[in-house]
Amino acid sequence: MKRGRRRSWSHAALLCVMVFCVAGQLDARERLDKGLEQRLRDHIEVLASDEFSGREPGTDGEALTLRYLGMQWFDIGLVSGTNDPGNEWFVPVTLVAREPAASVAQFRIGRRLVPWTEDEALMLTSGKRSLVRDAPLLFVGKADGQGLSRNELAGRIAVMLDGGKSDSDRQNALLAEGASAVLTILDGQRTLTQVAVRRQRSGYALADDTLGGDLEGFITKDAMARLLVTAGTSLKALTQEATHADFAPRVLNFTASFEATTRETTIRTHNLIARLPGKRPDSGAVLLVAHWDHFGVCAEEPAEDRICNGAVDNASGLAVLTEIARRLAQVARLDRDVYFLATTAEELGLLGAHAFADNPPLPLGKIVAAFNIDSAAIAPAGTPLAIVGRGMTGLDATIAKVADREKRVIVAGDEANEFVRRQDGWALLQHDIPAVLVTSGYGDLDRMRKFIESDYHRPGDDLNRPIELGGAAQDVAFHIALVRWFADTTRFSPAGE
Ligand SMILES: [Zn+2]
Repeated sequence: MKRGRRRSWSHAALLCVMVFCVAGQLDARERLDKGLEQRLRDHIEVLASDEFSGREPGTDGEALTLRYLGMQWFDIGLVSGTNDPGNEWFVPVTLVAREPAASVAQFRIGRRLVPWTEDEALMLTSGKRSLVRDAPLLFVGKADGQGLSRNELAGRIAVMLDGGKSDSDRQNALLAEGASAVLTILDGQRTLTQVAVRRQRSGYALADDTLGGDLEGFITKDAMARLLVTAGTSLKALTQEATHADFAPRVLNFTASFEATTRETTIRTHNLIARLPGKRPDSGAVLLVAHWDHFGVCAEEPAEDRICNGAVDNASGLAVLTEIARRLAQVARLDRDVYFLATTAEELGLLGAHAFADNPPLPLGKIVAAFNIDSAAIAPAGTPLAIVGRGMTGLDATIAKVADREKRVIVAGDEANEFVRRQDGWALLQHDIPAVLVTSGYGDLDRMRKFIESDYHRPGDDLNRPIELGGAAQDVAFHIALVRWFADTTRFSPAGE
């Protein structure tokens, strides 16, 4: 009995130990996941705090955001990835917005000034100031610049019919063929006010991309008709002429002087680029991206909550990116370099991602795969993955292989591609970088749509909403597997090599 009892006790003890061990293991794994979720939450609580005031480019919120991320990444062991000793870690990006200021138009027949009311025409430029003086007008009807010679257009103002549709392609083509300016007759439904409103909203662009010197004018149909009568012809006759197959552009017997100026707003902001050095950097690099910017103060008084904190969009993506970096820095050195890019001005039109590709720290062809991370804190653990950008790169098959090994499910179909243009990966794709967004966030589109319809881009995307991090934590794990695979030269070589 004693022995028996002892034996049964020891059996019980063994069983206990086993149960305890299994329970202990589960606990440890859960603790690890919970630990990761807590780390993600810690980052989000800093980046989406009111102190960071919505991470708007060019504000104190930018300085705080970049300092926080830079210090985290430095502590993790990353090095600067800018490849520019003059700008370690942070690459300056200049954004320019221009809104129309002055608009002047004068018409002359010979030396006589035609009486004229200014509000019947609008002169616009995408540069600072643009001026054309006493240039002859050339009526081109519906021409798009093709078939017109430089000789015909050079030094002249091309006058075109627009038939009611906004057609900047035709305007640009005429300017490219040498016209000094283009004057569009609003002979359809469009009004000058609509043209002006559209231009007011044109928003920011990269400083390098803004064109100077072009001059686009718009004139009402009535005003043009009156002008033409003064010059001894009629708009009706010209419009009729333009429909003929043998129509040839016609010089009108008056000249015009146009001037357009803009008010300029400049934002000086930054991309943050870090690198985890690989053993064989010549073999290329893997790029991980998350945008750091958001909208700053986005609601008017008297709203109580005026800050768009961007907890989900995209403090959560920055948190995921940072925890991927931490874990990758702890594993054995990879073959390829891994670049970590926190972009600016995503919300203003993916401008930081374009700036990166315009002025990259490595030849773009060296980037074997790019993974964007945006709005990660949406879905709970166990949500399948979606690929935004599916079918647009050569990466899908390899991603599927990694998912298999990691026992992760990728949702079928390409429904998530609906969102492909709304994320930095799209800008990278325009520059032929194979870029996708692989995430649980878009794995449950109903949940994502619910977010988009509610707190997305509003003050409600803040720390007061319940922030689900189960899926985000699994996204961290999956990206580590992805990067380890794509950075391994024995496992992955890009197409064509
Ligand atoms: Zn956004």
